[in-house]
Amino acid sequence: MTREMHWSRWGDPDRSGPLAPAARELVDAFLGTRDTPALAEAEARLAPPLPAHLCATFAGVVGAEQVRVDDATRLRHTRGKSTPDLLLLRSGDAGDAPGAVVRPADHDQVQAVVDVCVREHVALVPFGGGTSVVGGLVADRDGFAGVIALDLARLDRLVEVDPLSGTAVLEAGLRAPEAEALLAEHGLSLGHHPQSFEYATIGGFAATRSSGQASAGYGRFDEMVLGLTAATPRGRLDLDTAPATAAGPDLRQWLLGSEGAFGVITSVRVTVHPLPVAVLDEAWRLPSFAAGLDAVREVARSGLAPAVLRLSDETETALNLADPASVGAQSDGGCLLLTGYEGTADGLAVRREATTALLREAGAEALGPGPGAAWRRGRYDGPYLRDSLLDVGVLVETLETAALWSRLPAVYAAARASLGEHLDPGLVLAHVSHVYDNGASLYFTVAAGQGEDPLGRWRQAKTAVTDAILEAGGTLTHHHAVGRDHKPWLEREVGPVGLAMLRAVKAELDPTGVLNPGVLV
Ligand SMILES: Cc1cc2nc3c(=O)[nH]c(=O)nc-3n(C[C@H](O)[C@H](O)[C@H](O)COP(=O)(O)OP(=O)(O)OC[C@H]3O[C@@H](n4cnc5c(N)ncnc54)[C@H](O)[C@@H]3O)c2cc1C
Repeated sequence: MTREMHWSRWGDPDRSGPLAPAARELVDAFLGTRDTPALAEAEARLAPPLPAHLCATFAGVVGAEQVRVDDATRLRHTRGKSTPDLLLLRSGDAGDAPGAVVRPADHDQVQAVVDVCVREHVALVPFGGGTSVVGGLVADRDGFAGVIALDLARLDRLVEVDPLSGTAVLEAGLRAPEAEALLAEHGLSLGHHPQSFEYATIGGFAATRSSGQASAGYGRFDEMVLGLTAATPRGRLDLDTAPATAAGPDLRQWLLGSEGAFGVITSVRVTVHPLPVAVLDEAWRLPSFAAGLDAVREVARSGLAPAVLRLSDETETALNLADPASVGAQSDGGCLLLTGYEGTADGLAVRREATTALLREAGAEALGPGPGAAWRRGRYDGPYLRDSLLDVGVLVETLETAALWSRLPAVYAAARASLGEHLDPGLVLAHVSHVYDNGASLYFTVAAGQGEDPLGRWRQAKTAVTDAILEAGGTLTHHHAVGRDHKPWLEREVGPVGLAMLRAVKAELDPTGVLNPGVLV
């Protein structure tokens, strides 16, 4: 059972803690440190609770005990887990807190809550795991009678397993570990492992077009979805027939990535796989990031890629390969590539042979199982380190994009240069971890001093780097979605006609605009 998330930090409260002394010494030498502790939970300033008569109306739908107005619950449904979200909470600013947290039990209750929101003009924020990093959980308040967070945690059933077709129907509120545990009882697995795996939900994955660490093998979440059910102000939407259809444009795509602005997804039919019986992680050194990109492209195109294909640039490699006992030591240079195979023993052998041949041809040097095993052990630990760094005056944040292979080097260079310029002195690390025949994603992690105004410092850097990425030919977002934070650039990404299409669908499905107002469109 996953522990309830800390109110102002990432993850399990028992796993958060101060930076190790050796690490602090190193960070101090590079960026400088100072103690910047968060305020106590009791000092948080929340928006007022929902008026009692509205609580009573929602209680009529879901039961009084499933309408929560206490500060502790509302605080844990305030914003998501981006660094700006955390900085605001750490400073005690919980002005975006929902007036109430409403917890329906099934699709019909979700629909009834949506209907009440329309009738009473209450803004509704669908809340899955609360791991959004793009401001997807903050609703406009002006003009509304109140704001509720619709917590989907009680929609936690495995509804159907169809082993013959290789599909399962999962309810939206299932967290990824719970979904995997239920599927494992049938010998099945989803294979979707984003870094937010421990907390994020099935509905959240669909609503944001999430992509997991093993996407080279299992695909993005939106590729896994074959059907879905949603509650909208217009009523129930069911899209679940065949593995493929030519019955007009694919309406499922209108809900995938819609971030709660078009409807509340209550269940999805997804592709599932037999639980892997064999897992093997290997590591390679490529002479440079450019050489690594060439190698990864060939592997991606071979049709026999491993499930995990993760190439770090020179700076990220230097940190990954540094021996923890001698933090700060120089790495031997080059770039680290992790290859992780999952599946049957035979399938694994075929992919490994093909990939190994391509990597050797590209000049890769084998590094043995150590780095891959270390990565798999610590694959969900990074976000805890971010909190420890925020405690000592360091600003840490991530961002991502994707581009065609031909544009990828230019996008990488432009983003690095922009981040380096705006967060100086700072560290900029990058990796490629989602690959396609035609291109790949780029994922950046930055660390810099917080300065006097960390939020302002980050916003300035984020604006500049987003402009730089779009200018160089990258997408606004590969898997974090639009939310509020990316919205100012959406028209540049989809054009005025594209934006008008999105607005038209919003107006048709949600004519009074109660669904996640201010998010996406
Ligand atoms: C530390 C960290 C690591 C991350 N790593 C990854 C990663 O590796 N890959 C990746 O893709 N993302 C990653 N993310 C981003 C985030 O985890 C994903 O966007 C995830 O899909 C969100 O799922 P959630 O259940 O937490 O959704 P929430 O954060 O609760 O919601 C996200 C958005 O979707 C809407 N929404 C939620 N549920 C529904 C629903 N049932 N119906 C309609 N709308 C809904 C919300 O209103 C909101 O706008 C990471 C985030 C953090 C903080």
